[in-house]
Amino acid sequence: MAHRTIPLLDLRLHAASRATQQDGPLLDQLARPLHDLRISVTDRCNFRCSYCMPKEVFDKDYPYLPHSALLSFEEITRLAQIFVAQGVRKIRLTGGEPLLRKNIEVLVAQLAALRTPDGQPLDLTLTTNGALLARKAQALKDAGLQRLTVSLDGLDDAVFRRMNDVDFPVRTVLEGLEAAHKVGLGVKGGLKINMVVQRGTNEHEILPMARHFKGSGMVLRFIEYMDVGATNGWRMDQVVPSAEVIQTLQSEWPLRVLAPSAPGETAQRWAYADGSGEVGVISSVTQAFCRDCNRARLSTDGRVYLCLFSSQGHDLRDLLRSGADDTQLSNALRGIWQGRSDRYSELRSGLAADTGPAARRVEMSYIGG
Ligand code: SAM
Ligand code: SF4
Ligand code: SF4
Repeated sequence: MAHRTIPLLDLRLHAASRATQQDGPLLDQLARPLHDLRISVTDRCNFRCSYCMPKEVFDKDYPYLPHSALLSFEEITRLAQIFVAQGVRKIRLTGGEPLLRKNIEVLVAQLAALRTPDGQPLDLTLTTNGALLARKAQALKDAGLQRLTVSLDGLDDAVFRRMNDVDFPVRTVLEGLEAAHKVGLGVKGGLKINMVVQRGTNEHEILPMARHFKGSGMVLRFIEYMDVGATNGWRMDQVVPSAEVIQTLQSEWPLRVLAPSAPGETAQRWAYADGSGEVGVISSVTQAFCRDCNRARLSTDGRVYLCLFSSQGHDLRDLLRSGADDTQLSNALRGIWQGRSDRYSELRSGLAADTGPAARRVEMSYIGG
């Protein structure tokens, strides 16, 4: 895949010209702080979910990144430290499938050792499809991972196999979840389940999924199918609006809405009125939350993306590998964030599909979900 990037020289100029703006909180053009960082550790995956890596495109000839292009664990940790110094408090490891990255627990341990300027540990989490979780849960916990999100689009084995499109059985993911729970990754609601709901594919799994996880201590979140990337053939009529999901749930169990637990939180939280836990909905399509979006994404090969729908990344890897010191890297990052004005989801309805960023934007498996 050919990725468009901002050249190294521009970043160096950025770094130099912004050097005087070090003081005060780092804000973008819409006064949004930098708080969350999603790090993609691989662009490969063992699933072929059609909404993310359709088989026809991501086949054996697909130009995945060569190993030398990937940031090493040391490079990721160094950049993460720079992000933390500039305001990041939460890091999510993602991909592709992050558990495919060899010795991922070593990276988890390195990131878990980072501290904020006032000495606090980070909120460190990881999103996985759960296929390798049963074997990895203990090592991840031992490395210092506190929380985990597992993607699961249905409990019905036939539906699940069809959606992952590699005939992977749902039982193995459920065993992974159980292992994660057992080793203590689920304490205080730390274990979340993400279900992407697609009209005509798995909407009938909404109630069985809710029934299964209600009262388990795990938090199920329903995600609207998004028009990320340029390969999934997204159509609006395949989106099941969150309002409809909530209505479906309320036909069985009374719910009451909860206040957000953190600024910029993507999920709207709801509690079961009978006290048996909570569920969430992520309404990226029908209720855009760009106004509070405080997330940056670091791609597998070290480019910073300011929006899930960006077509262009800012290359920090070249700067890093050309011997830049921490001040130069910090200044480059500050310049990048200060120039940010992205709010794609708020603008989506006004963009023509063939002229908007849809035609060029990068795949979710590359910048991380
Ligand atoms: N492979 C891991 C997984 O599936 O959990 C991590 C990477 S995946 C890209 C991160 C999240 O993005 C998953 O929860 C996945 O369901 C979600 N996702 C991928 N494509 C999506 C789409 N088109 N719309 C909404 N969510 C999507
Ligand atoms: Fe892989 Fe996750 Fe994308 Fe599915 S959603 S193809 S598991 S990266
Ligand atoms: Fe953030 Fe872009 Fe999503 Fe808006 S569309 S919430 S700016 S990632």
